[in-house]
Amino acid sequence: MAKVRVHEAAKKLGITSKEMLEKLKAAGIEAKTASSSIDEAALERLSAPAATLAEAPKAAPKQAPKPEQAPKPAPAPKTEAPKPEPKPEPVEAEPVAAPPGGAVHVQRGITVKDFGTKVGRAPAEIIKSLMSHGSMKSITQSLTDEELLVVADDLGIDVEIVDPMQEERLEGAEEAEATSVDGGAPRPPVVTVMGHVDHGKTTVLDRIRSSDVAAAEHGGITQHIGAYQVTKDGQRITFIDTPGHEAFTSMRARGAQVTDLAILVVAADDGVMPQTLEAIDHVRAANVPVVVAVNKMDKPEADPTRVRAELSEHGLQPQEWGGDTLFIDMSALSGEGLDDLLTGVVLLSDDLKLTAAPSGPARGVVLEAHLDKGRGPVATVLVQNGVLKIGDALVAGASWGKVRAMVDEWGDQIEEADPARPVLVLGWNGVPEGGDEVRVVGDERRARTVAQERDAARRHAENVTSRPMLTLDQLLAQSEQLDLIIKADVRGSLEAVTSELGKLDVGGIKVNVIRSAVGAIVESDVVLAKASGAVVVGFNVRPDAKSRELAERDGVDIRTYRIIYELIEEIERALKGMLAPVFRERVLGQAEVRETFKIPRAVVAGCYVTSGEIRRNASARLLRDGVVVFEGKIASLRHHDDDVREMAQGFECGIALENFNDIKIGDVIEAFETVEVAATV
Ligand code: GDP
Repeated sequence: MAKVRVHEAAKKLGITSKEMLEKLKAAGIEAKTASSSIDEAALERLSAPAATLAEAPKAAPKQAPKPEQAPKPAPAPKTEAPKPEPKPEPVEAEPVAAPPGGAVHVQRGITVKDFGTKVGRAPAEIIKSLMSHGSMKSITQSLTDEELLVVADDLGIDVEIVDPMQEERLEGAEEAEATSVDGGAPRPPVVTVMGHVDHGKTTVLDRIRSSDVAAAEHGGITQHIGAYQVTKDGQRITFIDTPGHEAFTSMRARGAQVTDLAILVVAADDGVMPQTLEAIDHVRAANVPVVVAVNKMDKPEADPTRVRAELSEHGLQPQEWGGDTLFIDMSALSGEGLDDLLTGVVLLSDDLKLTAAPSGPARGVVLEAHLDKGRGPVATVLVQNGVLKIGDALVAGASWGKVRAMVDEWGDQIEEADPARPVLVLGWNGVPEGGDEVRVVGDERRARTVAQERDAARRHAENVTSRPMLTLDQLLAQSEQLDLIIKADVRGSLEAVTSELGKLDVGGIKVNVIRSAVGAIVESDVVLAKASGAVVVGFNVRPDAKSRELAERDGVDIRTYRIIYELIEEIERALKGMLAPVFRERVLGQAEVRETFKIPRAVVAGCYVTSGEIRRNASARLLRDGVVVFEGKIASLRHHDDDVREMAQGFECGIALENFNDIKIGDVIEAFETVEVAATV
C-alpha cells in the first residue's frame, strides 16, 4: 500500500504538520510525528468531510449522523491503491462547511471569554473545566487547541478549530489547490547555495545569473530581489539569492520550507570547514538533497580528492565512489564546470518530481521584505502554487495588500507569476516578514480583516506565552525521538557522550543527534535547535550570552552538564517521561488596589504592597475575588513620582499593567517570576 509522510501530506493540504497530526488523530489514524508514514488510503478517508475534527472520537456524537457520512468508505483498511497517483483532497479535508447544526467554528487561539460568548457558556464554567484538567487560565487568556477540544468535550459541544485563513477557505473556493488534486504540473526547483564563508557561494550565484540568456538581453543589469530564475536546457531553475544557511534556517524555523535542493560549495583548496558541516546539518535536518560544488579548481593547491574524502566522513559519499552524492568540480572564477553544475541540478530535480498547481489563486512565501522609499512596503514573494496576478488581494502574516505591480529580477514589470517564480510585489499596507505565508483571498476587505485578526491573535499569543515552548518534556510528549544538538569541551568527551546517548532506547524512543561539535553553545546551535525542534545539550561548555538570549526568546531548551553519567541519566529519565518541570513559577508578592487613576492610554492602580515585594520587571496577574482576570507584564512601577525597580511590603506604589486597563478597587496584583529549577527525580 502506498505510504506518504505526514509532513508531505500536510504540505499538499497547505496546512502545518501539527494541524495534520490533529486531523489524523481526530480521524483515528495513527501518526506520531511529522515524519511518520501513513497510508494514502487512510488519507483518502481523511479527505472525506466525515473525518474532520468535529467527528473526533472523543467529541461524542451529539447530533444524528450527518448525511454525508453515509456514502463514505468504511474506515476499514483498503487493500487497493485508490488512484494511480492518489493525492489528498485539500479542499474537502479542511474542517470547513459544518453541516447545519454541526460543529461550532472556533478560531484558533480564542480567549476563554470569547469562547464562552461563542458557545453561550459562562467563562467560569470554562475555567472550571480547565482546572479540572490541571490548567489555570484567566478569562483573557488564549486556549490551546488541546484545551479547546477538552473543554468542548466537557461541555458537550462539538467544535472545529479554524485559522483565520481557514475561515477564508470557508468562503472562497481554493481552485489552485483543487487543481493540484489532479497532480499539478511540473514546476522548477528552488535551490539554495550553502557552504563555508569565502568558499565562493556569492561568486557561484553571480556567475550562474550572469551566464543566463536573460542577462545578455538585459545588459547584465539585475535587481537584487532575493531570488532569481535561470533557464538551463529549456528548464527553469530558481535560485535563492541569499547564500548561507541563516536565511535557510530562519525560514524553516518559521515553518516555511522553500528549498527543494541545496548546492554545497566547498573550496578545493580549503576543504571541509566548520560552516560546511553546519550546512550539512541543516540540509539533513530539512531533508533536502545536496549537490556538492567543489569550487576554486583553478587554484594550483586545489585538492578535490581531499574534499571528497572529508565529505565522505560526514555522510556525503561521491557517486564515483559508489555513494549517492553528486560532486561537480568547478571554478566560479573561470566558469568552468558551471554548466555541469546546472545539468546536475536539473537531473536531481527531475528525480524530485516537483509539481504545483499551474493556475488558480496563488499561495507562496515571503522571501524578504522592506520599506522602499519610493514604492512603500515591498516584498519578494516566491509563488509556490497557482498564479499570482496584478490586482490580487493578499495576506501575509499580519500584513495585507493588493498587488499593484510585480517586478522580476531584471527589473521588468510582469503581469503574472507562476509556481517557483520570485517576484517583488508592490501594494502592501505594511512590511511582512521573511517566511510569512502569502495567500490570495477574495477581496481587499477580506484581506484586511484576516490580517487584523491575525495581528490580534499574534499580540495575544505574545502576551500569554511566558515560558519556553520547546522544553524537553514537551518535545517528548509529541515525538517518538528526541533530537539533540550536543556540544562538548573536547573531542574525547564529545565522542563518549554521543556514543552513550546513541545506545539509549526507552520503549522505542531514541536519541537522534542532529549536530555534535566541540566548542561553546553558540547562536547557530540555537537556530538549528529551533528549526528542528531539538534540545541543546552542553557538556563542560556553556552558552554564550547571545545564544542564551536567543534561546530564551525562541523557547529553546539548553541543558548543561559537567558529569557524563548525570547527562546520560537525565536524558534517559526524560525519555522515560520522568523529568520534573524545568521551569517553575515563584510568587514574589501581592499588592492590593486601593485607588485607580486614568492617565493618557493607561490606568494606574494605586496599591499597597500586602506581602513580599513587587518588581518592575516581573510578570503579574490581576486577581479579582481570587479569579485571575489578566496575566501579563508590569508596565510601570512608581513610588510617589519616581520610577522604582521594586517596592516592598508595607509601602504604597502605583502599578500599570501592560495592555490591560480594566483595574478595579479591591483587585489584587500578584507579581511572579518563572525560575529554572534543576531537574530532579
Ligand atoms: P562566499 O563568502 O562563500 O560568498 O564567497 P565569495 O563568493 O565572496 O568568494 C570569496 C573569494 O573567493 C572571492 O575573493 C572570490 O573572488 C574568490 N573565488 C570565488 N570562487 C573562486 C574560484 O572559483 N576560483 C578562485 N580562484 N577564486 C574564487
